[in-house]
Amino acid sequence: KVRVRFAPSPTGPLHIGGVRTALFNYLFAKKHKGDFLLRIEDTDQTRYVEGAEAYIIEALNWLNIPYDEGPGKEKDCGPYRQSERKHLYKQYADALIESGNAYYAFDTSKELDAHRKDHDEKGKTFIYNWHNRLKLKNSLVISAEETQQKIANGEEYVIRFKSPEDETLQLNDIIRGEMQVETSILDDKVLFKSDGMPTYHLANIVDDHLMKITHVIRGEEWLPSLALHVLLYRAFGWEAPKFAHLPLILKPTGNGKLSKRDGDKMGFPVFPLEWKTVEGDLFSGYREDGYLPEAVVNMLAFLGWNPGTEQEIFSLEELISAFELERVHKAGAKFDPEKTKWFQHQYLQEVDDAKLAADFLQLLKEKGVSSNLNLTKIVSLLKERATFVSDLWDQGSFFFEAPDSYDAKASDKAFKAETPELLQKVVSILNATEDFSAENLSEKVKGWITSENIGFGKVMMPLRLALVGEMKGPDVFDIFSILGKEESISRIEKAIS
Ligand code: GLU
Repeated sequence: KVRVRFAPSPTGPLHIGGVRTALFNYLFAKKHKGDFLLRIEDTDQTRYVEGAEAYIIEALNWLNIPYDEGPGKEKDCGPYRQSERKHLYKQYADALIESGNAYYAFDTSKELDAHRKDHDEKGKTFIYNWHNRLKLKNSLVISAEETQQKIANGEEYVIRFKSPEDETLQLNDIIRGEMQVETSILDDKVLFKSDGMPTYHLANIVDDHLMKITHVIRGEEWLPSLALHVLLYRAFGWEAPKFAHLPLILKPTGNGKLSKRDGDKMGFPVFPLEWKTVEGDLFSGYREDGYLPEAVVNMLAFLGWNPGTEQEIFSLEELISAFELERVHKAGAKFDPEKTKWFQHQYLQEVDDAKLAADFLQLLKEKGVSSNLNLTKIVSLLKERATFVSDLWDQGSFFFEAPDSYDAKASDKAFKAETPELLQKVVSILNATEDFSAENLSEKVKGWITSENIGFGKVMMPLRLALVGEMKGPDVFDIFSILGKEESISRIEKAIS
């Protein structure tokens, strides 16, 4: 059974790359009727941020990509926070020492710095591996008794992986295909520290094994760790999962990795908790900016993947059935803010008018605007020109506030000597009309314009200005119908007074 995991470290808000990783794991799991796990990788206590885990969970829920197993949804493989699994890891580090795949090292960070400096001066890079390990302070050099003595004395130590000296390692990645790595260039990475905590590498491999993970889908930044991870599986004698490394997400220019520094709009956490940017502003996420989760999911899906067809709009269900890891690209994916808005515009059109009206009402309340107009009708007329609910206000504030001035350029064109007389006639038509539907009003007014041979612009332009204040907005007769007789007439009379 397919089992995948999203394994974030709770170090702050989720960024776009993290959310994309979660989504691709989710899609792959659901496509194969498998399980999607959330594992919190919080072994590095120095980077721990309070509230980050809650934030991550809320982000996944908001996007409608909930996990099947994880914190709060405990199943057989829990607990799902590495800090709660602390007691588990030491035995695995010990087993590697036992089998000759790992060793104790006692070098202090001061000593290691000195070695690095020394190498630097000679124009070389210091690597803790077969080049140097026999010249350093570790259990490969000192006797077993001495090693035990040092540990018993409470000396600080780490457990390092013993990388093979001279092997060409074959790596396989679902997206990148075959790769080769010379083990001679690998560091003997630290697996375990004397503070009792495993490092990322050890905890990650042990947990993926214990949690029966079949596919590791993660960001390209982890590709350099793949060789070590494959070697660790081999050292433990465990079957390794399959790996897929997702492409980097690039700046809109394609010039470099998308970063927090690209600004609020691109750091892209899904929503803020109490975190502030360097400048002290609250993070503004997609949710706060008024995006619909469906639009964000659709946009994210196309960051590094495409279906191979022209179709761009995909529901979550459609994504699940179309998604294939084999179709994920190797090359970095350019983030496109305009395309993101385009998706949002498309999805806003799909929102039920009654629901949109409820959101719009909320916005009106926030603005202190009260109104008994038909909001459902209003949003149905405005949404075509809107990307966010807030645009409904920009497009349609005139419904709620009669214009107190008229666009100068447009009124020069629209208001002529005969305008007052013409609009007065419209007022009398409106006055005499009981059925205030847009169709009926249109028929009456247009009928009069045609029969008198007046020219539509002469009537319709000043009418629009009278109602809206500028040359924008939906059909004039729809506006009449929504405003009602009294308000419509009052606006016209004001314009010609
Ligand atoms: N904790 C790692 C992260 O923060 C997990 C990487 C992986 O998926 O192996 O992304």
